[in-house]
Amino acid sequence: MKVAIIGSGIVGLTLAHTLTEKNIEVTIFEKERDSLSHGTGRNSGVIHSGIYYQTNTLRSNLCIRGAKLMKKFIVDNNLYINNCGKLLLPKTKNDIETLKLLYERSKEVGVEAQKLNSIGEILRIEPNCNPLYNDALFIKDTAIADPKEVSNKLIEILKKRNVIINYGYKVDEISSENTSITIKGNINKFDFIINSAGLHADHLAKKANLETDYTSLPFKGKYWKINFSDKNEIPNRLIYPVPNLDYPFLGIHTVYDKAGNFYLGPSNTPVFGREAYKPFYKFNLLEFLNLSYKFILKIFFNENNLRNLAISEFKNLFLFNVRKSSNVYFKHNPSNIELSSKVGIRSQIFDKKSKKLFNDFVVIKQNNIIHILNAISPAWTSSFAMADFICEKYNLK
Ligand SMILES: Cc1cc2nc3c(=O)[nH]c(=O)nc-3n(C[C@H](O)[C@H](O)[C@H](O)COP(=O)(O)OP(=O)(O)OC[C@H]3O[C@@H](n4cnc5c(N)ncnc54)[C@H](O)[C@@H]3O)c2cc1C
Repeated sequence: MKVAIIGSGIVGLTLAHTLTEKNIEVTIFEKERDSLSHGTGRNSGVIHSGIYYQTNTLRSNLCIRGAKLMKKFIVDNNLYINNCGKLLLPKTKNDIETLKLLYERSKEVGVEAQKLNSIGEILRIEPNCNPLYNDALFIKDTAIADPKEVSNKLIEILKKRNVIINYGYKVDEISSENTSITIKGNINKFDFIINSAGLHADHLAKKANLETDYTSLPFKGKYWKINFSDKNEIPNRLIYPVPNLDYPFLGIHTVYDKAGNFYLGPSNTPVFGREAYKPFYKFNLLEFLNLSYKFILKIFFNENNLRNLAISEFKNLFLFNVRKSSNVYFKHNPSNIELSSKVGIRSQIFDKKSKKLFNDFVVIKQNNIIHILNAISPAWTSSFAMADFICEKYNLK
């Protein structure tokens, strides 16, 4: 069987890894010159535990299993991993109720989490934080890895398995009638096609005439770089706020990378271009008008609380608010906080029928094409499990 994969982000690469283990012939088409230009090269690198997501959804099941598989791949290949765990610190009394719910859920899904019940217990786990309440949740299973290292290792393995990754090849058309893709007028036929084009997966699905009730809304995530005068003042654990489970995002949290950089982020504000990492980067007037129209309507009518979400996330663009909301994370005041160049964009599906942001991964089969839509966070963590799931469900062997 000959399979074409569109997109060489983590979802495309792990799929190619799983398919080639079954001796399936794989060709990848990637419009950029590398595999790290979009979501996979611009995320926080956190291996999530999976307790945020409603149980028995794809996001919950694939994240829990995917975290184990991602860690195994990293350890087997001697790649960077920091098993630092994650501390959830409440900022309001309401957060404490959500914390209890998450703790119960962790037991239900078998994720190791420890409920902390006093400031002393919290400071023993993380001496450099500044808890406001006696309650906190420590999730031991959460870790940080280096997405660049993981992708590069996968590419190295795939090359040894004779997978051709065609960089600089943008798929213009895709047809489910004869299972073909068109690049610069050349039609290429395959037995099976997987559309894992990240931010553009829904565009390609539309070109294949897939009918859905979905429309995509991009949100931009900026990070703040934090410096401390003494390195010993930096918290060792990842510190997160307690999430608002009605919102799709996790809130501003601490982030580390392999190089030792320390950040707060990401914010999540509506953006009027799917690749608008910089103000006029790849500016497309039609896309700008289309997205402005969609966002303005949704924010005006406050569909799925989008106005409230936009207001609360907009605050995170200002240093004053970032400093204020991160008070609880740091015992010592950072010596400097500055907006960093690290930025990512996630495209979140909006279901036109229910008028809600769709909070799960979406995998749709259309004849011999599989469309992976809404590969939102934690799709990086979940990717190996997602690849297994797709191969099993659609009998790719
Ligand atoms: C700010 C931010 C922080 C995040 N933090 C985390 C985290 O800590 N942990 C976690 O698990 N997840 C996190 N995520 C989510 C995670 O990064 C994404 O879910 C994941 O990278 C999605 O991978 P992908 O392969 O679907 O998409 P991508 O990495 O975007 O890859 C898709 C590829 O398809 C290519 N492509 C698009 N159109 C075409 C075309 N027509 N022809 C050929 N190629 C095409 C693109 O160039 C791109 O390389 C975060 C995301 C963001 C934005």
